[in-house]
Amino acid sequence: MEYRAPKGTNDFFPPRSTTLRRAISAMSTVLEAYGFEPLETPIFEETPLFVRTIGDATDVVQKEMYTFKDKGDRSITLRPEGTAGAVRAYVENHLDQLAISRLFYVGPMFRYERPQAGRYRQFHQLGAEIFGESHPLVDVEVIDLFLAMCTTVGLTGLSVTLNSVGCAECRPAYAQKLQEMLKDAPLCETCKARLQSNPMRVLDCKNGDCRSLTREVPTLVECLCSACAEYHKAVQSGLEAMGIPYTNDPRLVRGLDYYTRTAFEILIPGKEGAQNAVGGGGRYDRLVEQLGGRPTPAIGFAIGLERLQLLMEQQNVTRFTGRPRPVYFLASSEAGQRVAMTIAGPLRRAGVPVTVDLSGGNFKKQFKNASRANARVAVILGDDELTRSEVAIKDMDTQQQQVVPLDQAAERIRSLHEQGASGPAPAAPGRE
Ligand code: AMP
Repeated sequence: MEYRAPKGTNDFFPPRSTTLRRAISAMSTVLEAYGFEPLETPIFEETPLFVRTIGDATDVVQKEMYTFKDKGDRSITLRPEGTAGAVRAYVENHLDQLAISRLFYVGPMFRYERPQAGRYRQFHQLGAEIFGESHPLVDVEVIDLFLAMCTTVGLTGLSVTLNSVGCAECRPAYAQKLQEMLKDAPLCETCKARLQSNPMRVLDCKNGDCRSLTREVPTLVECLCSACAEYHKAVQSGLEAMGIPYTNDPRLVRGLDYYTRTAFEILIPGKEGAQNAVGGGGRYDRLVEQLGGRPTPAIGFAIGLERLQLLMEQQNVTRFTGRPRPVYFLASSEAGQRVAMTIAGPLRRAGVPVTVDLSGGNFKKQFKNASRANARVAVILGDDELTRSEVAIKDMDTQQQQVVPLDQAAERIRSLHEQGASGPAPAAPGRE
C-alpha cells in the first residue's frame, strides 16, 4: 500500500521549510517591535465556539469545518481560524488583568475546501490580535504592521483594500435593505440562499451576473451610522498621513460574521479574483463581550503562510533561502569518531552546524558525503593525525588543506566556517 498525505495538505521539507521558518522568525522580530507577544492555543476547540463567533450562516461553519465527536462524546472542531481561540483564551485567562493586549500566533488551520493552488485543507496562518484599543490609528497601525512584515520578508508591490462593515447599529438595517432591493433579482442559487442567511456575502460573489445585479445597490459604506462613518474617515486619513496607499473596496465584506467597522485585505499584485489575498483582517469590537468578557474593542489580522511563500518564490526573494553549510568531520576509526564528537559539541553550542560522519566508510566515501552535504569545511581525523594530536582542515571551496594542533582546531574551524556559513542551494545528490 502506498501512503499519501491527505488531499489538500502539504509536506514542508528543506529548503522550503527552512525559508519559511526564517521568514516567520523575521516577521516575529517585527511583531515584537510593535509590542506583540506570542500566544499558543489548542489546535482544536469545542465546536460551539466557532459556530457562535464565525457565524452559523457562513461558508466556514456550514461547509468547511472538520468537526468530530471525541471519545467523551464532545463535539470538537479543528480550528478553521485563530481569532476565536485567541479571544476565548483572552477571556478565560483574564489577560486584560495581566495587561496583556497584543498577541500573535503561528500555526495550522483546517478548512474542508476544494484544494487548488493557494487553497488547502490544512494551511498555516500567522495571526495577530490587539485587545482593548479603539482608536482609528490602531487600525492604521495594524495595516502598517502587516505591510512591515511583508517588507521584512522581501515582498514588494502589495496593495491594501479597505472597507467598513459597520456595527450592530447600521449593519442589520443595511442587510434588510439589501434583502428588499434584491428579493426579485435573478441571482445565482448560492446568492439566493445567502440573501436570506447572510445577505452581505452577496456583495462579494465572484459570479459576473451577480456582480452586475448588485452594482446598482447602495453599498454599506454609504449607509454607515455617523459614528462608523466618522471612524472610517479617520482610518483613511490616518493611512494617508502615514503615506500608505490603499483602495476602497465597498464589496469587501470578508467571510466571517464577527467583523465590525474596519475590514481590510492585502492583495497580491496582478492577481485577480480568488486566492488573491495574502491575508486580511479587521476590527471585531463585540466578540470579547460575546464570549463572556468585558466589552473590549479588538482588531486583528492573519497572513496565509502558504500564499506568502508562493509569493516569495514568484518574486524571487532569496534572502531566506540556502541551507546552512555544515562543518563536516571525517574519521577513520572509532577513536577518531570520539575525538570528532568532542570537538563538535562546543562548536554546535556556539551555533556552528556540524555533521560527524559515523558511517565508518573509507575517506573517499566520506568526502563524497561531505560534498553532498554542501560542507564548507571538512575536518579530517585519520590515524596519522591522531597520533600526532593534530587535525587536517580542508576548505571545501578552495580545496586548500592545513594541519593544526588538536587544541587549536575549534578556533580555526570556526573562523573558516564564518567565511561562508550559508551558501548556494545544496549540491545535487551524488555530486563528487
Ligand atoms: P481568512 O481567515 O479567511 O480571513 O484568511 C486569511 C488568509 O489566510 C487568507 O488571505 C489566505 O492567505 C489564507 N487562507 C485562508 N484560507 C486558506 C486556505 N484554504 N488555504 C490556504 N490559505 C488560506
